[in-house]
Order: sequence, then C-alpha cells, then structure tokens
Amino acid sequence: MANKCEYGVAVIGGGPAGLAAAIAAKELLPSPEGVLLIERDRVAGGILNQCIHDGFGLHRFGEALSGPEYASRFIDKADLLGVPMMLNTIVLGVSDKGEYKELLVSSRQGGLSVVRARAVVLAMGCRERPRGALSIPGHRPSGVYTAGAAQNLINLENIMPGRDVVILGSGDIGMIMARRMTLEGAKVEAVFELLPWASGLPRNIQQCLVDYGIPLYLGTTVVNILGMGRLEGVTVAEVGPDRKPKRGTERFVPCDTLLLSVGLIPENELARAAGVEMNPITGGPVVDADCMTSVSGVFSCGNALHVHDLVDFVSEEAERAGRAAAEYLSKPSQQGTSTPSVAVRPAAGVRYTVPNRIALPSSPASPPASVAFRVNTPSRAGTVRLKVKDKVLAEETHARLHPAEMVWMKLGPDALASLSDADTIEVSANGSE
Ligand SMILES: Cc1cc2nc3c(=O)[nH]c(=O)nc-3n(C[C@H](O)[C@H](O)[C@H](O)COP(=O)(O)OP(=O)(O)OC[C@H]3O[C@@H](n4cnc5c(N)ncnc54)[C@H](O)[C@@H]3O)c2cc1C
Repeated sequence: MANKCEYGVAVIGGGPAGLAAAIAAKELLPSPEGVLLIERDRVAGGILNQCIHDGFGLHRFGEALSGPEYASRFIDKADLLGVPMMLNTIVLGVSDKGEYKELLVSSRQGGLSVVRARAVVLAMGCRERPRGALSIPGHRPSGVYTAGAAQNLINLENIMPGRDVVILGSGDIGMIMARRMTLEGAKVEAVFELLPWASGLPRNIQQCLVDYGIPLYLGTTVVNILGMGRLEGVTVAEVGPDRKPKRGTERFVPCDTLLLSVGLIPENELARAAGVEMNPITGGPVVDADCMTSVSGVFSCGNALHVHDLVDFVSEEAERAGRAAAEYLSKPSQQGTSTPSVAVRPAAGVRYTVPNRIALPSSPASPPASVAFRVNTPSRAGTVRLKVKDKVLAEETHARLHPAEMVWMKLGPDALASLSDADTIEVSANGSE
C-alpha cells in the first residue's frame, strides 16, 4: 500500500478508465506525490479481467486483444511510470474542502484513513441492472443471475451457473454470455429482447448468436419466473408498441438458468454525495470537454461518466480527463472560476451528448473538442449534425446509425472560434429506415 496521503491527482477506480487517466496525469506530474490510483479489487484491470473473449483494442492497437491483455498493456505502463496503486482499498466518500478534496478510504491493511488530493478523477465504472429493478413477477428461485455475474463465475471462479439457459436482454454482455455458455456445453434456448431492435453491437449479434444458431426474439419479454427451489422455466410474451405484454402471446420456456442483460448503471454514489450535478439520461455527471464536473477539480470518465460501447474510446476519454486533472493543478487562477464556454445539447434523433459544455478555445492551436452521442433509433443511413442556430459546425454521413454504437465527432478551434457563452450547439441525427 502506498504510504503517502497527499497527492496532486487521486484517481478512483483501476479499470481501463482509471488506468489511462492515471498514466496521462503521471506523464505530466512525474513526482512521487503526483498521482495516486485507488482500486477496491486486489488487482487493477476492472471488468476487463473477466472478459476473456477477444475484440478489445481494435481501434487503439489494431489488434483483437482479450480483456486481460488489453488491461495489462496499461498496468505495465502505469508500473513503468511508477504510479502508486492502493489496491484492496475502497473509497467511501469524496468531499470538497476548497483547495483540497478529501477521500475517505477503507482497507483491510490500513482501516479507515483520509487521502487528500488537489484534483480527483472518478472512474468507478458501472454495475448491472438487477432483477429487482425490472419488477418481473413470479417466484424467487436460484438460477437467476445478471450476465456479468455469470461471466465472473465461469471465467474467474470456474463455476458453471447452469445448463439450460434463457437470456433476457440483447446487450453486449448477454450476447457474449450466450456464446460463452454454449462453448461451455450449456444449451442456450434463446435471447429475448423487449425493444424492436437488439441493444448490443451488430458484430456481437453475428459472432455470438447467428454463428451459434441461437435465436433472438425481438419485441418479447419475460413476464413470469417459475420454480420454488431452482428455476424451472420462464413465461415469455410479445410486447406491443407501448412495450406492454400482449395478452394471448404468452408461452412457457423451460430452463434452469435466466441471465439478465438489461442495462448498466454508472456507479456514481460518490459523485452524488460530493455534490456533482448529474445527467438524468446518462446517469453520469454533467461535464465539460475536459471531463470536469460541476465541482471544480473533480473529473469523471469511462463507464462512470456514460456507458461506452468500446473500451478503446474509454481509454481515449480517460486520457483527456487525466491530462486535464494534472493541468488543473497548474492553473490556480482559474480554479473555481468558469471559463467562457458553449452549451451542447441533444436535438432531434439524439438521446444524449457528452460533454454538456465545451470551453471556447483560447488560441487557434487549442486541441479539438470531442463530442460523443447516441441516436434514439436505428436507421440504415443517416446524417449527424452539430449546429448553432442555422450554422452547421460539423456534419457526417453514416452508412448505419444505431443506439448501440456511440458516435464521436471532433470540433476544431476554428469551428468554435465565432461562438459565445450564450450559444448552444445542438446535436441532431436524421436517418432513413
Ligand atoms: C461483459 C462485458 C463484455 C465487454 N466486451 C467488450 C468488448 O468485446 N470490446 C470492448 O471494447 N469493450 C467491451 N466491454 C466494455 C468495457 O469492458 C468497458 O467499457 C470498460 O471496462 C469500462 O472501463 P471503466 O474503467 O470505466 O470501468 P470498469 O472496468 O468497470 O472499472 C471500474 C473500476 O473501479 C473500481 N471501483 C468502483 N468503485 C470503487 C470505489 N468506491 N473505490 C475503489 N475502486 C472502485 C472497480 O472495482 C473497477 O475495478 C465489455 C464489458 C463487459 C461488462
């Protein structure tokens, strides 16, 4: 365990976001008290440690790495740079004490202690939506798991959760688990999805379902869970346009295991308790283009900020947050004061945007700002636009737009130069069925 308790930047969470943020901050703050990373698990790597399938790093490294391989590239770099990691340590609270933030931490070795840092990066990832959040009626037998919990059991604990499987929700984790359970000898009866489209990436529909002959039923949900000790089966029903079950379409599907892949919730209890303004759509903080939240000196990135589709973009965003946190220390005059910025908001066809504000460029050499967003509905082709009133700042045409795939666009200093504090950039998408 690191023995210093005062740092320039403290990063909470040692997943891909926390690792990339800590590395980027450490490159700017090489002193021993520059950067600290705190992780509650016994190893860094986050959720990637249980993702033994490949497909990570295609954008960043041009290679299809497994989760642990992707994570180890960042762990090795953090070690090389000498980033101290407090492992087996959970952060219980973050409070803003003006010049310093105070982190209340707890570990088996050190008990309760306080870490002080001048800037904090929140990189706590997300958790899965459990059965309790869905209100599915029925019994409470064993055999009902979230897809990530089943993945953890198989890949890290060598425990097979069941043999005859139904999956509710077509998120990426559910589809990846459909393939994983099949490879381990289970029979996956089907994947059922409430929406009229799959909510995971198209590549996972092909590689995890189609290639293994696993049926995907859209517009269908589980309406009852049966079994007194162990799960005996589920009743499924088609849903109408109002997403309510249609009477007369119910059918029983026998199974001993139900995996839920029905959404991820950013982990933000710490952010809320610290007084950070939240975005009700993403479940993450409201941030500017440097990933700084409404609390000066508190930054957010990765799945704690908004649920990402690809880890490569998590790393890129987190590097921005880590660099900005390190640079924040050298700008005491700006701390607590707001720099001129322009608002960013979703318009027609777009569900949310990150960031919610972009600082106006201080010089023509300022780096471009990244804007990430998701569309509301799938379309075969479409145009995405960033506009202020009638002026188009940036426009792209995509062969396909899908809510599962995040769109990233860049705005250079030239596009932002003519804007003022009073302007709002509207992000819209217009696709064809
Ligand atoms: C099953 C599954 C399959 C996936 N497949 C792919 C894929 O094929 N390709 C791809 O590109 N992406 C994939 N992803 C997505 C990718 O793994 C995530 O986008 C990425 O891991 C998010 O990184 P993160 O650091 O934000 O969160 P995480 O990896 O969740 O890391 C967060 C870390 O914070 C720690 N933490 C939380 N709270 C505290 C606290 N209070 N104190 C201390 N530590 C704390 C946690 O222990 C954890 O280690 C997959 C994700 C899952 C779940």
